[in-house]
Amino acid sequence: MIKHRSNVIVVGGGIAGMTVARAVANLGIGVTLVERGHQLGGHAANWACMATDECARCSACLVQDQISQVSAHPGIEVLLGARLESCEGEAGRFQVTVDPEPRSETLHPPWREWLLGERRSLPSQAVVLATGSEPYDPSEDLLLGYGHFGGVVSTRDLDHVLREDDLARFAPESDTPLRVAFLQCVGSRNRKSGREYCSQFCCRTTIRLVDRLMFLRPTLETTVFYIDLQIMSKEFGAFYDRLGNKARFIQGVPAEVCPGETEGTLRVYNVAPGADRTEAFEFDRVVLAVGLVPTDSHRSLAEVMGLDLNEFGYFAEPGPDAPLQASRPGVFLAGACGGPADIQGSRRQAMAVAAMLSQHLGERNWHQERAQIPAGSGGHVKTGRN
Ligand SMILES: Cc1cc2nc3c(=O)[nH]c(=O)nc-3n(C[C@H](O)[C@H](O)[C@H](O)COP(=O)(O)OP(=O)(O)OC[C@H]3O[C@@H](n4cnc5c(N)ncnc54)[C@H](O)[C@@H]3O)c2cc1C
Ligand code: SF4
Ligand code: SF4
Repeated sequence: MIKHRSNVIVVGGGIAGMTVARAVANLGIGVTLVERGHQLGGHAANWACMATDECARCSACLVQDQISQVSAHPGIEVLLGARLESCEGEAGRFQVTVDPEPRSETLHPPWREWLLGERRSLPSQAVVLATGSEPYDPSEDLLLGYGHFGGVVSTRDLDHVLREDDLARFAPESDTPLRVAFLQCVGSRNRKSGREYCSQFCCRTTIRLVDRLMFLRPTLETTVFYIDLQIMSKEFGAFYDRLGNKARFIQGVPAEVCPGETEGTLRVYNVAPGADRTEAFEFDRVVLAVGLVPTDSHRSLAEVMGLDLNEFGYFAEPGPDAPLQASRPGVFLAGACGGPADIQGSRRQAMAVAAMLSQHLGERNWHQERAQIPAGSGGHVKTGRN
């Protein structure tokens, strides 16, 4: 049996971590992929297919393909249920310790064979962080009624309902049209909560969800409350034009959801830009379009690795001339751990990191010459006010 020789450690087995692991391993460089959970895929493995009579290009199906490719790759060692405990040394000569997380008894093959059993110490030339982000928990915002009123759900919940093919739970078939409101920017673009950044993906997710819902239940009446729709692309322009006739779009950020006039209905209070009065709207369902927030493990990982976080809690890049690189030389960032990104954006970053690694692995001096990102790959999104 060939002993696995690791030159690069990738932390996080979501779409970004899997993409970088595979791209680097395809260059003949040994990779160890360290995932704290008990399976690969990250959050993107939970999202539903948004196809109507055509593909909605949501990219959710790319994840399963990536899992199969990574699982079968002879150059990638996967360690599940694993936590990075320390990282000594310097770029080109790291020594990384990985500890097991508590085990799950219900783990099935193939995942079981990758579960880390005991502490491992691994030499590595470079470390790639791909630890992602978490969906915002809307129960933090008490005025939106999530967890209190049955008809208030998040886009994450609705994605789950569609994935389980259980739409009747959200919208039972009925002769009376169900009125559904989508509230954008929940957990994002909010100065008071310290999350002024735009989460990038959630306008597109809402447009796809509205399209899919109306494909499955043409009688639905949908309304989208938005600040400004972040859907700039030819593909999305066409989507929007198509929906424009079927769904209602209202500018404003509703700050409160209350019980409506009749039992089971919900009232949404909205202030349109420039208006001095609140307007009330009645709905049967309210869907909160949740954004992304930094993963809970970022702080401890930053301490263990000696890395800086930015003002929002994402891993910081040392400056504009070093995109996708962390504040410690030899440590790289891919996907949503450096700021919100969608699946394709995470993949693009992962490919760019793999290209940088192919250029620099084996070089003598990581400190003087920082790796350069190839043109057109796109770094992390700006996380200041958008
Ligand atoms: C409701 C919702 C719907 C969405 N729908 C879409 C969509 O339709 N299309 C789209 O393009 N994007 C969508 N997104 C965004 C998409 O989920 C992200 O772009 C994608 O998950 C980012 O991938 P990632 O690999 O960077 O991070 P993640 O998916 O977050 O994966 C990170 C991985 O790292 C692991 N990890 C975390 N910390 C550690 C640690 N300390 N040690 C080891 N492992 C660790 C995690 O367990 C996880 O497996 C949606 C997001 C939400 C919230
Ligand atoms: S890209 Fe999205 S909509 Fe298209 S087939 Fe894949 S999962 Fe379905
Ligand atoms: S993509 Fe930006 S503008 Fe659109 S809902 Fe998300 S945070 Fe708001």
